[in-house]
Amino acid sequence: MNFIDTNKPVLVTGATGYVAGRLVEKLLTEGFIVHAAVRTPNDKDKTQYLDALAAKLPGEIKYFKSDLLEEGSYDEAMKGCELVFHTASPFIRVIKDPQKDLVDPAKKGTKNVLGSANKTESVKRVVVTSSCAAIYGDGVDVLEMPNQELTEDLWNTSSSLDHQPYSFSKTVAEKEAWEVNKAQDRWDLVTINPSFVLGPGINPHASSESYSIMKQIGKGDFKMGAPEFNIGCIDVRDLAEAHFQAGTKAEAKGRYIISGTNSGFLEIAGFIKNKFPNYKIGTKKLPKWMLWLMAPSVGMTRKEVSKNVGFPWKANNSKSIKDLEMKYRPLEGTVTEFFGQLVEAGEIPKI
Ligand code: NAP
Repeated sequence: MNFIDTNKPVLVTGATGYVAGRLVEKLLTEGFIVHAAVRTPNDKDKTQYLDALAAKLPGEIKYFKSDLLEEGSYDEAMKGCELVFHTASPFIRVIKDPQKDLVDPAKKGTKNVLGSANKTESVKRVVVTSSCAAIYGDGVDVLEMPNQELTEDLWNTSSSLDHQPYSFSKTVAEKEAWEVNKAQDRWDLVTINPSFVLGPGINPHASSESYSIMKQIGKGDFKMGAPEFNIGCIDVRDLAEAHFQAGTKAEAKGRYIISGTNSGFLEIAGFIKNKFPNYKIGTKKLPKWMLWLMAPSVGMTRKEVSKNVGFPWKANNSKSIKDLEMKYRPLEGTVTEFFGQLVEAGEIPKI
């Protein structure tokens, strides 16, 4: 870890988020001083989980008030840092205006954070949390890929403001990051491209979309069956390890697909039903036409259903295993521990 001075602070943007929580835990475990850049540093409901970790782990945490849309807002938090983790970006499905609610904070926010890196002489490496969504837009796209699998060489070309706007926001934000990086030569950029993140976070009441599917399953939305919606999954704790390795290994380079399992909603529902048999969870395949009909009532568009249900999903994670020494945990424990955590916390009704 000589590449990064462990006595220097490390910045984490969006530190109160789901993904960031486990990363901050890892950094505190390793003894780092974490500069936590958040929108609402006085919101104890959010910061209490980070504070509890800082109280028992060797590292320290300091909060900074920052917003992606305010230029220069990360300057203060970045002071003295050699390593920056940029995780903040909206991950929401319910939006009014895709440009304002998703693309602006993602793209302008990235430009803003990296603009601060350009001004901060101490910065050596920036790790940006991108997504597999910057590699593919819809399940149907995977059929066109070489070997029908996602690799770090590919980019999402099918998403737009009107269709899969979240995926579009992640694509334009990552492209922005590479552009800003290429225009200078002091700090290097590594991107982490996770698939769908699951597993117990530090805050069981967080609002990331990752929690929605567990809650939907918990309240019986899948009682008639689960859609054949295939996706990749990554445990939030493995993802924290990936960020840490990407930040501290001198040789880490470029993009990294971080995905533990090629899976899907059917398998996830099956794991939960096995462990929590009292819940009304159908484990049979919900016919595509039925989901297509009910799409708007479950927060999907019919185009999303057409282009995403019934397609195989595969990502190549070999670069992460080779360079970052990733060891991925099995999905079953990730899913059942996550569901159990949300039941315990009252986020899913106890049955
Ligand atoms: P999350 O819990 O909602 O975290 C998003 C973070 O972004 C929050 O800390 C939020 O701050 C911050 N943020 C949003 N808008 C902001 C703004 N205008 N100014 C400052 N901060 C802002 O979601 P997450 O799942 O942890 O996502 C974290 C990152 O992982 C994102 O970049 C997301 O795209 C990426 N990712 C997630 C998944 C997944 O399945 N969860 C998969 C691939 C990639 P507040 O705490 O103030 O709301």
